[in-house]
Amino acid sequence: MQLTVLGCFGPYPRAGQSCSGYLVQEGDSAVLLDCGNGVLSRLRYYIEPWNLDAVVLSHLHSDHVSDMMIIRYAIMVKRYQEPGPALKVYAPADPQSEYDRLAYKDFVATYPVTEDTCLRLGNMEITFSKGAHPVLSHLITIQSGEKKLVYSGDTEYFPEMSQRIKGADLFLCEANYLREDIQKGHVNHLAAYQAANAALEGEVKRLVLTHHHPDRNQEHSLQEAREIFANTELAVADKQYTL
Ligand SMILES: [Zn+2]
Repeated sequence: MQLTVLGCFGPYPRAGQSCSGYLVQEGDSAVLLDCGNGVLSRLRYYIEPWNLDAVVLSHLHSDHVSDMMIIRYAIMVKRYQEPGPALKVYAPADPQSEYDRLAYKDFVATYPVTEDTCLRLGNMEITFSKGAHPVLSHLITIQSGEKKLVYSGDTEYFPEMSQRIKGADLFLCEANYLREDIQKGHVNHLAAYQAANAALEGEVKRLVLTHHHPDRNQEHSLQEAREIFANTELAVADKQYTL
C-alpha cells in the first residue's frame, strides 16, 4: 500500500500549497482521501481523477472537499469523450446541505458513510469511526493484508482515540495546534503532543503529522511530538510512504 501526500494544510493553504488530500494506492486500486482546494492539480501528477476507484471524504468542511466542485467538471468532460462510470464518493451525509452538493448529474455518485460502513476496494478494506469535530468527521482506517493505515480526519482529542488507531503501521494525524493553543482553550483540532500521545498509547509504528497551520513553522509541531513519540515526521506534499 502506498500513501502519497497531495496537500497537508488547513484550514487554508500556504502559498503554492494545497489543503487536505492523500492518495492511497494498493495493487490496481486507487482511492483519494479528502479533496481540499488545490488537490486536483497535484493528484494529476499521479493519476487522473476518472481513474480513481473512489473518493473518501472524512468530513464536509471546505478545506477537505472544495476541489470536489472542480473534479466533477473533469469527470464530465472526460465522460463526454469516453463514456464510463460515475466517480464514487463516500462521505458522511451531514451536514445534509453540503452532502447534497457533492453528487453531479451522471458523473459523480455519492454514498453516505457511517460507522457501520465497510468498503472493499481491491485488497483494501476501509472502515470508519467518529472523531470529535463540529461536523461529523471520521477517522478512516485502511487495512490491506497485514498493513494498516489510519487517517485522523479532523478531530480534537478524545479518550478512545488510541484504541481506534491501535497497531497502525502509519497514523496520518492532524496537528493543527500546539500545546499552547490547547492551554488557551482552543478546540476542534489536535495539538502535536496529543497526536503523539495517541500514537504512543495506540502503539502505532509511525506518526505523520498533517493539517499544518499555514502560517507557522511546522518544526515546532515536530519537536513537540517527538518529545513524546520519536518516530514522528511531517507530511510534505509529494512525499510517498510505502506500507
Ligand atoms: Zn474540519
